[in-house]
Amino acid sequence: MTHISAPNASASSAAAHVEALLASYPDFPQPNILFRDLNPVFADAVAFRAIVDDLADQHRGQFDAVAGIEARGFLLAAAVGYAANAAVLAVRKGGKLPGTVLTEEYDLEYGSARLELEVGQLPAGTRVLILDDVLATGGTIAATSRLIERAGYTLTGVGVVLELTDLHGRERLGTAPVHAIMSI
Ligand code: AMP
Repeated sequence: MTHISAPNASASSAAAHVEALLASYPDFPQPNILFRDLNPVFADAVAFRAIVDDLADQHRGQFDAVAGIEARGFLLAAAVGYAANAAVLAVRKGGKLPGTVLTEEYDLEYGSARLELEVGQLPAGTRVLILDDVLATGGTIAATSRLIERAGYTLTGVGVVLELTDLHGRERLGTAPVHAIMSI
């Protein structure tokens, strides 16, 4: 009997779930934007578990904390943090965090934005995995990378559910490994 090993079983099944459930909305939230909606993936218990397990597995042993980007990145960071026994950092939109915060301004595929991180949450050198739903132009994750590094942490990976390859966002990111469950 032939034994077939499947080292990437969780990755391929996570990608299959995303491919089956991803919804696309032309001209949302403004003309010429093809909005990729991952809520149907989050709303399917089996698919959600598959993507969370895959994000945790791809970077296993390489992070002590996950940084979720408001708002959809929070859904992933909370679950991956729990699954991997990792701390959770919330990277929030501007003006929502108290105390001493670091700020980064950046351009979006549509508009511009500001992200912030509270300082002193974790020890310097903590290994951080950044999580978000979609990698588009890369501005959001690049800004988050700068926040992580300015806070004294070490960025060891980036995980996203979906990468929009024609926007070349990956090229704006640094040397930390970037894992996308699905690329289109
Ligand atoms: P970017 O900074 O261009 O990589 O954009 C990433 C952020 O914007 C992510 O948090 C996404 O949720 C959101 N985003 C950008 N473009 C899209 C898109 N076409 N469909 C869905 N979400 C998007």
